[in-house]
Amino acid sequence: MIIALDGPAASGKGTLARRLAAHFDLPHLDTGLLYRATARSLMDAGERLDNERRAEEAARGLALMDFDEEHLRGREMGEAASVVAAIPAVRAALFDMQQAFATRPEGAVLDGRDIGTVICPQAQVKIFVTASPETRANRRAIELAKRGEKVDYAAVLDDIRKRDERDSHRSSAPLVAAADAVLLDTTHLDIEAALKAALDIVAEKAGLRA
Ligand code: C5P
Repeated sequence: MIIALDGPAASGKGTLARRLAAHFDLPHLDTGLLYRATARSLMDAGERLDNERRAEEAARGLALMDFDEEHLRGREMGEAASVVAAIPAVRAALFDMQQAFATRPEGAVLDGRDIGTVICPQAQVKIFVTASPETRANRRAIELAKRGEKVDYAAVLDDIRKRDERDSHRSSAPLVAAADAVLLDTTHLDIEAALKAALDIVAEKAGLRA
């Protein structure tokens, strides 16, 4: 079974993906890390984020050691990732790796922006996770504060809005719900309630009892 979760920043899709993967004992790929690691690699090399040729090389050169999550989770990396993610050659460079992960025989859970539309249009379960920008900014601010980052709520909300705009309006694989995705709005749900709703969706779509 392939479970595809897409949605905007801080919608809760990452946490849901981890919890669903643990529940069904499936491997999980947070595809945002691939774009974050690509941006990090460019920045470490002193290159501009909009240098398309270098960005493609960075994406093709990603190695497992590039996925030091701690390094990649900061506020500015989300913004940088969304700049390189708009480059079609970067998306193409990361396509095979994501598809190979998704098509493992045991199945997989992937979360991102284009999993249900581009990476795994064949996924049995597609969930598009949303929440209001204010709720997402609040969650992101709490998460960043826990990481020890100095947090300005208004700046975080501004980041979220900018990122939504860039991710939704780019020409290559924009953030959009697949026609056959089920919408899950987590604005008024805590993680346990959101997980229950997601398990119900999986049960219905894949015929699996939670
Ligand atoms: O999910 P996360 O916040 O880590 O993603 C960082 C950025 O990477 C997103 O804002 C988006 O621009 C890009 N991304 C993408 N496609 C994916 C996953 C992430 O374009 N499948």
